[in-house]
Order: sequence, then C-alpha cells, then structure tokens
Amino acid sequence: APRSASKPRIFLPHLVASLEVEETYIMVKPDGVQRGLVGEIISRFEKKGFKLTGLKLFECPKELAQEHYKDLQSKPFFPKLIEYITSGPVVCMAWEGVGVVASARKLIGSTNPLQAEPGTIRGDLAVQTGRNIVHGSDSPENGKREVALWFKEGELCQWTPSLEPWLVE
Ligand code: ADP
Repeated sequence: APRSASKPRIFLPHLVASLEVEETYIMVKPDGVQRGLVGEIISRFEKKGFKLTGLKLFECPKELAQEHYKDLQSKPFFPKLIEYITSGPVVCMAWEGVGVVASARKLIGSTNPLQAEPGTIRGDLAVQTGRNIVHGSDSPENGKREVALWFKEGELCQWTPSLEPWLVE
C-alpha cells in the first residue's frame, strides 16, 4: 500500500516555521514570576536570537485576561484560568524575528508540561497544564493581536541589535 494510505500525516501549519519577520506575545505567567523563572525564560528567547521589543511587569486586570483568552470562554477551566492569570504579576513581552511565532511555541513546548519535550521551557520547568508558567501566541495574526492588546504604542521599542548580521543573512 502507498505510504500515505498506511500512515496518515498530520499537518500543523502553526508549527511550520515561516521565513517572514513576525511578532509574538510571550508572557511569564504568575507562577513563573513567583518561582523566580523570569530571567531563565527571557534568556531562552534572547539566546535563540530573537529581538525583544517590549517588556514589562504587570498586574493583569480581569477584563484583559478574559479578552486575551476569549477563544477559551466556553471551556470548563475558563474561570480557573482567569483566576490563575490574575493571581499575581505577569511579565509581558513582545518578541520579533524570522519565524518567531512557531519557533517560540517550540521553545515553550506542549501545553501539558508532562507531554512537553525536555529542552523546552515547559518540559524543563513545569509539571501541570494549569501551572505551565509561560504563554506564547499561536499564530502570526494572534501575535499581532496580543502585542496590541497588552502593550500601548509608546511601550514598544523598535531598534536594531548590533548582532543582527550574525543572526540573519
Ligand atoms: P497554549 O497556552 O499552549 O496555547 P491553550 O491555548 O490551549 O494552550 O490554553 C491556554 C492556557 O489555558 C494554557 O496554557 C493553560 O494555562 C490553560 N489550560 C488549557 N487547557 C487546560 C486544562 N485542561 N486545564 C486547566 N488549564 C488549561
């Protein structure tokens, strides 16, 4: 039998790295802040070679958490999720780079930290879905939407890292 008949393939568009310069919204959730993992998490994106364009420590209002996670409104865990995200300060970040959306999702690892590969942030540093320490946008569209939702214009910084020629051709 042809291979396609015996072995169905799953195509995950959001995990295919793009060659476009994109932006993504990354957030250290309250458990990551409380556990002292802010530096470790920022460091992983820095070392990879992405560009930080926004950064703040922030106490998230309930309405903003609800807007951010509005696609999950109907899920049974939604109220607990909102309680979790508003339970303490979060660290909001905007990152920019070639294929940053899918690449950041790979660095972060699966939603359930027990299924996340070792080497990923969640795989190395977390154990439970409801305490998975970090958020990353799941599409370029949501990257734009979420950066605009969490940051005001003047809070973002456009700059050219001097190392850029050593990271991108
Ligand atoms: P991701 O953050 O990996 O994109 P989702 O968008 O599916 O995952 O969910 C958003 C967040 O909601 C998760 O990161 C997690 O904090 C929480 N969450 C998702 N599923 C569950 C669940 N079954 N129980 C508790 N919390 C959940």
